[in-house]
Amino acid sequence: MTIWAIVPAAGIGRRMRAKVPKQYLNLNGRPIIETSLARIGSLNYVRQIAVMINPDDTVWPTLGLEKNPKIVCQFGGENRYQSVLYGLRYLKSQAQDDDWVLVHDAARPCVRRKDIDNLFEQIADHPVGGLLGAPVDNTMKLVDESQEIVATVDRVNVWSAFTPQAFRFRLLLDALEAVDKSEKTVTDEATAVEGLGHRPKMVLGNRDNIKITHPDDLGLAAQILSAQAME
Ligand code: C5P
Repeated sequence: MTIWAIVPAAGIGRRMRAKVPKQYLNLNGRPIIETSLARIGSLNYVRQIAVMINPDDTVWPTLGLEKNPKIVCQFGGENRYQSVLYGLRYLKSQAQDDDWVLVHDAARPCVRRKDIDNLFEQIADHPVGGLLGAPVDNTMKLVDESQEIVATVDRVNVWSAFTPQAFRFRLLLDALEAVDKSEKTVTDEATAVEGLGHRPKMVLGNRDNIKITHPDDLGLAAQILSAQAME
């Protein structure tokens, strides 16, 4: 079983309102992306990690992370799904159709190794693949443009989707190529795969696998990493 990884890191992190893209903000002494890549890099079953950066990125080359022979950098696209698609196109010459490809956001540095191991254990015999996530705790509301509630979504069976998400290589490539040809966009790999009529498997992951999105998230992630280090 060969496993490839793609780390989309080509976003500009508008919601973070910072001067540099969010993956380069300091988190407990090092850039967020360095911690995310250290977690994926520690998985000895991952053959190569394609990091998708913005073509205008001037920070990445200063970090020296490509000294790790497993890490290669490629240019991402305008949307997250395009960044992942470009990574798949890059890996196409080396990957077999049934290989696994693990996609993990650069902005999720708190992912636990044991959760990724468990994801692969849970999907080992699955023809499609799956992702980490967790059931939602809050009551879910659907609102309109004026932020008035139009419906309450029954939260039974509603889960939040995290990354990593892992799919068979050819399936994910076909799914994202199909999105690219359509007028639609997707915010995760599973949605693209669902679009081809498949049913990815949800695997319970720890809720501390937060995506750093808003300024407040940075302090929370710092606390999570410190707490994880004490375990
Ligand atoms: O914007 P969001 O928080 O959903 O981004 C999730 C991940 O996708 C981030 O690591 C970001 O750098 C990446 N991304 C990307 N290409 C884009 C937009 C986002 O690789 N065009």
